[in-house]
Amino acid sequence: MIQKILIANRGEIALRIVRACRELGIKSLAVYSEADVQSLHVQLADEAICIGGPKSADSYLRADRIIAAAEIADVDAIHPGFGFLSENAEFAEQCESCNIKFIGPPAAAIRNMGDKAVAKETVKKAGVPVVPGSDGTVSNEEDAVKIAREIGYPVIIKAVAGGGGRGMRVAHNDISFAKEMRVASNEAEKAFGNGEVYIEKFVENPRHIEFQVLADSHGNVVHLGERDCSIQRRHQKLIEEAPSPFLIANPGLRKAMGDAAINATKAADYENAGTVEFLVDAKGDFYFIEMNTRIQVEHPVTEEVTGIDLIKQQILIANGEKLAFRQEDITFERHAIECRINAEDPARNFTPSPGTIGLYYSPGGHGVRVDSHAYSGYQIPPYYDSMIGKLICYGKTREIAVQRTYRALSEYLIRGIKTTIPLHKAIMQDPVFKEGKATTAYMEDFLNRTPNDMFD
Ligand code: ADP
Repeated sequence: MIQKILIANRGEIALRIVRACRELGIKSLAVYSEADVQSLHVQLADEAICIGGPKSADSYLRADRIIAAAEIADVDAIHPGFGFLSENAEFAEQCESCNIKFIGPPAAAIRNMGDKAVAKETVKKAGVPVVPGSDGTVSNEEDAVKIAREIGYPVIIKAVAGGGGRGMRVAHNDISFAKEMRVASNEAEKAFGNGEVYIEKFVENPRHIEFQVLADSHGNVVHLGERDCSIQRRHQKLIEEAPSPFLIANPGLRKAMGDAAINATKAADYENAGTVEFLVDAKGDFYFIEMNTRIQVEHPVTEEVTGIDLIKQQILIANGEKLAFRQEDITFERHAIECRINAEDPARNFTPSPGTIGLYYSPGGHGVRVDSHAYSGYQIPPYYDSMIGKLICYGKTREIAVQRTYRALSEYLIRGIKTTIPLHKAIMQDPVFKEGKATTAYMEDFLNRTPNDMFD
């Protein structure tokens, strides 16, 4: 039985894992960088060990130091959270070879799904529809242009190692193709140390709809419904909700996509929590784009709709336990919306706004959940991503969830830094969003037609 877990992460997700451990009666060990001494996860975990300097490369990405800390503190398992080492197959292997359980899928599944071209091939064989595109990676520019022409413009050039919307470029003709391919490859080389790219048909104005899955070590696989993450800026999610407004009106499509998500999970020989991501076009045709082999930022909306604690499920699965429910036992009772609260200035092109939070008061009341590591006097270090919390509001219907989100956003008091709160408030009042009509093209359009001073 797992008795102590090292949390190889920081910020709100580290805190979220501390909370799950405490409820399960499991001890938690925080590891932290010198910049995070004052962080809440460090203060609330049972034990804490400093593993290095402020930069991620000197701390949260140092597998050797994390495993050394695990050995010193005698932990049985490591939860990687998201980002950092969470999708690093070598790290998962190193943990297992030191007899420490990695709370996530087996290394082979991380590796296969981590290469997006291999992932597409794998699920395609299991009958899951994928976006038409190149068979695997393309390297030679001349051949690549031919393939792009065959697929038909517009196409999207994507990094096989991609994540967080980086290494992705759209091309509309032969001339822009060569340039965009070079840009995508260079960006991917810099971000992931792997410049390999592949080509896909660019699906116009799609919705991003993803399915949360859970797979135990006994061969049981279930899905926990979908999340609609179409509200994105530069391919990065800003608002997520469950269920998807598009699928509320298309229950048949939901069933087909849920079955496809389960087939993809089985084809990947998957274990633990994962997300199968699809694009859905206006006609209702859907295409697999990738599988994320970790817990995701937006997992709370699924928790609030199903009542299932996903972090606890991850720990129980890692402990070798059978899922305690079957597909037919999972119910979807509510509508939930998550807003990412980032320390960024939406009125000034989303420039990061690190600094010290003077006063911090977060909303509460019926149907409101705040997952955040922020507090009055907290200094936001400039070394990491800008997300300082997530506001999750839920209610019986989508309309209630939208009204509640607006109400909760209006209660926030955060002094000293700029945040995305005014942007979220404007979106909650926008008729296109309220009608549930947003696609991935929404944000660009919304920002173009909304005066900047609305976000001040
Ligand atoms: P990442 O791993 O970097 O997040 P994804 O493959 O998940 O990249 O894609 C992120 C987003 O990029 C999608 O939600 C969608 O908005 C856009 N996108 C990706 N592939 C396509 C495509 N073939 N057509 C249109 N948009 C796409």
